[in-house]
This record gives sequence, structure tokens and C-alpha cells, in this order.
Amino acid sequence: MGLGSPGFMKSRSPLPKRFSAPFISKTVRESTFEATLNPQTNSIELHDPATGKVIKDLKITAVWPVHGVVTLEFGASDFPFQLFHTGIDIANPHSQIGDPITPFTEGTVTFAGESPIGLGKHVIIDHGDNITSFYGHMSAVYAVKGQKVKPGDVIGLEGQSGWATGPHVHFQIDVYGIPVNPRTFLQGNP
Ligand SMILES: [Zn+2]
Repeated sequence: MGLGSPGFMKSRSPLPKRFSAPFISKTVRESTFEATLNPQTNSIELHDPATGKVIKDLKITAVWPVHGVVTLEFGASDFPFQLFHTGIDIANPHSQIGDPITPFTEGTVTFAGESPIGLGKHVIIDHGDNITSFYGHMSAVYAVKGQKVKPGDVIGLEGQSGWATGPHVHFQIDVYGIPVNPRTFLQGNP
């Protein structure tokens, strides 16, 4: 993405095609700083990806999009070929599908549909301030493109469509198109 100073991103050699899922990054980030939590003010600070300067201070009311257990954290490296995980996976503890999924904060749906691989049935929401969120592997999509949604609304149901070995939600937050750790925005556990 041509960002930042040397060492900020390390390129890896291309991966076999079957691992080139959209939710697995081919680059390894040493850190993320596009969004950070200010513990004094409890606000989210957005940083210019090029300079690192704080350019916005946001108070966001955020909820976990689904209840369950975290089966893979953001950035976890104990994955085949140490790929970088661009979101958090939240699974139903009984391996059942159908749990309702809600947006982590309010926004407007920019995609609601299916891709045959990768995220499967998924929803993308634009929250303004260059923040977007993704909810993948749904069994059913209820949201429609252009819809305004807020926490509590059901945008779809948990499933295992796309590249998934069991029922879970791949929950991802991007800031300036760069995946950040959703735990920056959310307290506790789902
Ligand atoms: Zn995932």
C-alpha cells in the first residue's frame, strides 16, 4: 500500500492461490496505529496512516457484533504459513449456526451479498471517518445495500459460508482501508 517508513510493512513471497483469501493479508504488519485507544479520555484516536499524527478523536458507542468465543485473534501468527489474520473470529460455543449479528456501531451498509470464496455471505458497513467493518461467513444476510444500521439491528445470521471450517463470524474493522485490531474499539469479550 506504499505506506510509511521502511520496516513498517514487510512483504512476503506470494502465497499459493488457495490461501489468497481476502481476510488473510499477504503482508505482515509489525504494528497498527491507524486507530488507538486513549485511556485517559476513553476515545478512539485516528492517525494519519502516512505521518502517524492524530487527526481525529472519536467517541464511539461500540458493541460486539455477536456473542460467542474468540477462536482466532487479530494478527495471530499460529496459522498456516504464519499468515496475518485481519480480523477476529467469533464462534458459537456449540458449533451451531444462526446467531444474530449486529453492527459494532452505527453506519450505512455498502455491501450485502456473497462471494463464492473467502468471506462467503458477508456485509460491509461504512461508519464514516474512514472506518469500515466486515462481517463474514454468514448463513443468511438480512441487510441491504444503502441501509442505515445501528447496534441491535440484525444484519445477518452466523454461519460458515465461504472459507470457513466451522460456524463463526469473521469480524474486521478497517481504518483508511487498513485492518486494525477490533479490540481497540471494544471492551471485554463477545
Ligand atoms: Zn477470520
